[in-house]
Amino acid sequence: MRIKIHQILLPLDYEEKDILKAAAAKVKCSESLISGLKVIRRSIDARKRSEAPFFSMHVEIEISESAGLKLTDDKDIQIISGEQIFPEIQIPNISGKEISRPVVIGAGPSGLMAALILAEAGLSPLLIERGSPVNKRTPEVSSFWKKGELNQEGNVLFGEGGAGLFSDGKLTTRSKDRLRVRRFLETLVKCGAPEDILIDAEPHLGSDLLKKIVPAFRNLIEINGGEVRFHSRFEGIHVDKNRLRGIIINGREIETESCILATGHSARDVYKILAESGVMLEQKAFAVGLRLEIPQKRIDQAQWGSFAGHPRLGAAGFRLTLKNDGNRRACYTFCMCPGGTVIPCASSEGYLTTNGMSLSARSGPFGNAAFLVPVDPSDYPAEYPEANGIHRILSGIEFQGRIENLAYVAGGSDFSLPAAPLSDFLKNRHPDILPEKRSWPRSRPADLHLVLPGFVCDTLSVAIPKMLRLLEGVSPEEALLYAPETRSSSPVRISRKENGESVNVSGLFPSGEGAGYAGGIVSSAVDGLRAAEAVISFSCCKH
Ligand SMILES: Cc1cc2nc3c(=O)[nH]c(=O)nc-3n(C[C@H](O)[C@H](O)[C@H](O)COP(=O)(O)OP(=O)(O)OC[C@H]3O[C@@H](n4cnc5c(N)ncnc54)[C@H](O)[C@@H]3O)c2cc1C
Repeated sequence: MRIKIHQILLPLDYEEKDILKAAAAKVKCSESLISGLKVIRRSIDARKRSEAPFFSMHVEIEISESAGLKLTDDKDIQIISGEQIFPEIQIPNISGKEISRPVVIGAGPSGLMAALILAEAGLSPLLIERGSPVNKRTPEVSSFWKKGELNQEGNVLFGEGGAGLFSDGKLTTRSKDRLRVRRFLETLVKCGAPEDILIDAEPHLGSDLLKKIVPAFRNLIEINGGEVRFHSRFEGIHVDKNRLRGIIINGREIETESCILATGHSARDVYKILAESGVMLEQKAFAVGLRLEIPQKRIDQAQWGSFAGHPRLGAAGFRLTLKNDGNRRACYTFCMCPGGTVIPCASSEGYLTTNGMSLSARSGPFGNAAFLVPVDPSDYPAEYPEANGIHRILSGIEFQGRIENLAYVAGGSDFSLPAAPLSDFLKNRHPDILPEKRSWPRSRPADLHLVLPGFVCDTLSVAIPKMLRLLEGVSPEEALLYAPETRSSSPVRISRKENGESVNVSGLFPSGEGAGYAGGIVSSAVDGLRAAEAVISFSCCKH
């Protein structure tokens, strides 16, 4: 008999044997009757300030039917009848059919996952990526960070692994699609990720691990019959009578009937190509703001109290929200990187944005998070009165670009980050100096009010101090702001039907963050998985 037990509570320094003991106590049986035990989920509960943080676990146990167990109606105990907790996603193998080879564009989480599933289905997909493989991309990024030398095709945003390669590698998601999330996480484990990501409530990898996992992921695609081409840029689309006929890569057409377009939301040229080719796009709301950095030890103290520094707790994160109060917009934190570094990102000359990354140990002295203010299409038409037709749809990108260009200039036009102590930002004054200790030394004092629109600065000036008060003990005096955070999500959506296909180009499957339906590593990968399933059904129906 298999039993799922919720809410096994254990102290921070529990040992493996304590899980068995606690499970036996919960079902009121002897430990010797439990023949198997598997942890399904593990989270840290630190909500009660007066008590020590503890682990809360869900476990599955195996008990002999003959044990004669009398289960009470404890809501935390549930008999599992036969079914697997995470049933496998079934991918049919349709190799051998006369099917045109599908093309996947973009080797970020979405494109990688899509290509793997298509390869497993026997469709030998072709995966196209404009940037370099991880081993070449790393020195390209390093020369951008050290000297401000930008390679417009291989950078923090473009190249194998996509936008998330130089990241915190947080694997949290709001996706309710548990099985596909599980499938993606299991694939990461197969490619070298620690098994803990399958059970932790807030799993993360860090950039050092991602750089090992992503090439193994590519290898898996190739072993299953896929082909990966780097330095190959998608430049156009051939559509005839609303059906996809081919795509243009480096000036040459590749014929195909199905293409998963997973180019992320930094590929602004791709939106332009699609708009000019008549692919239906829509504007969507997004958010802009600043990235704030504070000493990690203050965050740990605020979250863990006297238990800060406990090795099982690691570096603490936070999520803060301030609701819209009728007069002022909402503000929320995004992509918090405990023990991480603020980084500059760019994919074209003259445009600069920030983000955060960390290594698996998350042991850096600072934590950072974006503080974002929502914007929607009604915020920018006035700024772009000339915008009409396709350019009207792309005006959110123009809005982002204008901020990024101002940031580039404010940082000294060499991809140094413009930065300001929070105290200067709140007093609306140009900072003279930045703190000597900061995570991104290649940053310059700048008046950040000159970078972001007034309504965003006004909201942040009120919201940040209020939000920091929620993190008791974190002082605004210790906070440093870097500008700007503009690419938390796409300002454009590539309109899709229920099955994920473009509404007006049959055979085109926009996927991932750039399609405007996903955000973050896991949700983009899950979206890629679904796009691959849709291509498999599309191919089966046609042939
Ligand atoms: C620095 C940073 C840190 C982040 N940290 C996290 C985090 O910790 N957790 C999290 O969940 N999310 C994080 N994100 C967001 C996350 O990386 C994205 O949500 C995710 O990568 C989106 O996946 P995607 O596959 O849809 O697109 P992308 O990852 O953007 O991949 C798109 C790929 O397409 C390629 N491409 C673009 N145009 C073309 C073209 N014309 N031809 C061929 N190829 C093209 C690009 O080179 C790129 O490799 C972070 C992002 C950044 C930038």
